[in-house]
Amino acid sequence: TEKLLVRSEKMSVAGQLAAGIAHEIRNPLTSIKGFLQLIQAGVNRKEEYYKIMIEEIEKMEKITSELLFISKPLTDMKQLESVDDMVKDVEHLLATQAKLKNIDIVIAEPITASIFCDKSQIKQVLINLMKNAIEAMNEAGFITLHVHDTDAEVEILVCDEGPGIPHEIINKLGEPFFTTKQSGTGLGIMISKQILESHHGRMEIMNNEGKGTTFKLVFPKYYKRKV
Ligand code: ADP
Ligand code: MG
Repeated sequence: TEKLLVRSEKMSVAGQLAAGIAHEIRNPLTSIKGFLQLIQAGVNRKEEYYKIMIEEIEKMEKITSELLFISKPLTDMKQLESVDDMVKDVEHLLATQAKLKNIDIVIAEPITASIFCDKSQIKQVLINLMKNAIEAMNEAGFITLHVHDTDAEVEILVCDEGPGIPHEIINKLGEPFFTTKQSGTGLGIMISKQILESHHGRMEIMNNEGKGTTFKLVFPKYYKRKV
C-alpha cells in the first residue's frame, strides 16, 4: 500500500539492512524446518532434502560472513599504500578463477600512484567488483584495470565485457540484498560503497548496455592533510 511504500523509502540503511537480514535468514530457516519435519515424519526422500538443507545453510553462511565484514569496527589501519601493489594482489588472487571462464585480467598501464587507505578494505572493494565482472561475463574476454593519477585524485577503473547493467535496475545497485543472481547475496556493492565513503571516495558506474560495464573508484589524494 501507499503508506508502506513511503515508509520503506524513508527507512535508514540500517533499517533496510535489518529487515533484509531478517528476511534472508528467515526463508532458509523456514525451509530447513519444513524439511526436518518431513524427515521426522518418516519420508523416504531424505537424501534430496539433506542436499537442499545444506544449500540453505550455505546461503545463510555466505550472508553472515559478508555481514561480519561490515560489522567489524573500523579500526583505523589507514596509511599510504601503493595502488600498484593492491591491484596486482587482487589480480593474482582472481586470475585462476577468471581463467576458468577464459577471462584474462589485464592491468592496462604501469602504476605509481599511492592512496591513504586501509589496504585490506580497498582490496575487498576491488575483489567485490572483479568478482561481479567475472560473474557477468558469459564468454571469453578481458577485464581491464586502469589506474589514473591526476593532480587531486586517483582513479581505479574496473572494465568488463559483460552484458552491462539494464538501466531499470541501475538505481537499485547498492541496496542491501539487491541481486539478480541465483546465489548472490546482494551485499557486494553496498559494502564497497560504505568502504569508499569511509575513505572520502566515491564510486561511479559507466554502463554500456550490451558492451560491458566500468566501475570507477575515485579517491582524493590529499584528504589526510585536510582532516
Ligand atoms: P551480488 O553479486 O551478490 O548479486 P552485488 O551487490 O555485488 O551483489 O551486485 C548486485 C547486482 O548488480 C548483481 O546481482 C548484478 O545484477 C549487478 N551487477 C554488479 N556488477 C555488475 C557487472 N559488472 N555487470 C553486470 N551487472 C552487474
Ligand atoms: Mg557481487
